Amino acid sequence: MKNGRSRHVLVAGGAGFVGSHLCDALLGEGAHVIVLDNFQTGRRQNLRHLERDPRFDLIDADVVRPLPSRLRSSRLRLDQIYNLACAASPVHYQADPEHTMLTSVVGTHNLLSLAEKSGARFFQASTSEVYGDPEMHPQSETYWGHVNPTGPRACYDEGKRAAETLVFDFARTGRCDVRVARIFNTYGPRMRADDGRVISNVICQALSGDDITIYGDGSQTRSFCYISDLVEGFLRLMEHEDTLPGPVNLGNPNELTVSDLVRRVLALTGSQSSVVHRPLPIDDPRRRRPDITRATKLLGWSPRTPLEQGLKKTVAWFAEEHGRPSDAIREPARLSGSIPA
Ligand code: NAD
Ligand code: UDP
Repeated sequence: MKNGRSRHVLVAGGAGFVGSHLCDALLGEGAHVIVLDNFQTGRRQNLRHLERDPRFDLIDADVVRPLPSRLRSSRLRLDQIYNLACAASPVHYQADPEHTMLTSVVGTHNLLSLAEKSGARFFQASTSEVYGDPEMHPQSETYWGHVNPTGPRACYDEGKRAAETLVFDFARTGRCDVRVARIFNTYGPRMRADDGRVISNVICQALSGDDITIYGDGSQTRSFCYISDLVEGFLRLMEHEDTLPGPVNLGNPNELTVSDLVRRVLALTGSQSSVVHRPLPIDDPRRRRPDITRATKLLGWSPRTPLEQGLKKTVAWFAEEHGRPSDAIREPARLSGSIPA
């Protein structure tokens, strides 16, 4: 609510994992929400519980195409635009790399133009991938990154970097007010079982008793943020009224190796799955951990959900979704010990 009236918000990519949780939070705060999504990786079931809400609306469209006439109508009121449209998992964004690049560049430009026309504040879901395989650790917003511009991850990394360029050019020339979040690995309920990212893969493999796939030797690190913490960061960043120095990292600084993550999921599920090693994908970053000083100072934000707690909720959700009773999930007894060969 602002000045006693509810906000009108467009969420591009709102049918996805992060977007659907954002919609829940916005509607919970009294906003009117329109989702724009082409369902490339998003799912209608993520939004099914919102379909009857009179403050919720859904448009099936691709941001790469000219935006639907409804959004271009001069009668449309928009206070905020969140741009989350873009497949986020390497498996999905590499399936059609050209479309991924165009989604970030043409799609972001289309939405920025809409923000300029409507006077809406614009939020860009950027990524820690703009840091590439980082030579600076942990990564702070002042680091310019180390990205291979021609590799298989480039369609995503360079697309997101170009999107940031467009966003800050629009801001510099006074065409719209912008917020840019550099999101680090986030997990939670509503990830797709076939998403391909490590948390969903490992949990699904552990629950079904399949082999757990570790790419490379498992010594690469990531820092995982629980979804509700990320969404809280989004809202604070979008609502922040003072001038911002640039993008803001949002993530959990608790860094661990992929092998350690696997150990924790095995302990949590009591799974007897074996671990198998697969080749490390090309350009897979060696390590990643956010420096969140900026978010903490400016937004008073830091993640609150410990990994064990977030994993437990995520495992319970996957177990429920895929037909296993959630009481099959065990308390994490001991996390030490070797990984089964
Ligand atoms: P997701 O794949 O679940 O959601 C992306 C959504 O965008 C989907 O609903 C998809 O259908 C939609 N979409 C994709 N291309 C589109 C297009 N051209 N037109 C319209 N809709 C389109 O991914 P997510 O994890 O929810 O990520 C959401 C955003 O956050 C993405 O922009 C991603 O780059 C960013 N991000 C996520 C993470 C993470 O760990 N989840 C990390 C860094 C950045
Ligand atoms: N990974 C893995 N097994 C899997 C999926 C991913 O070992 O089944 C590794 C992957 O190579 C990377 C890390 O886990 O080093 C995180 O991968 P993810 O795709 O979740 O995110 P990103 O690489 O984009 O950070």
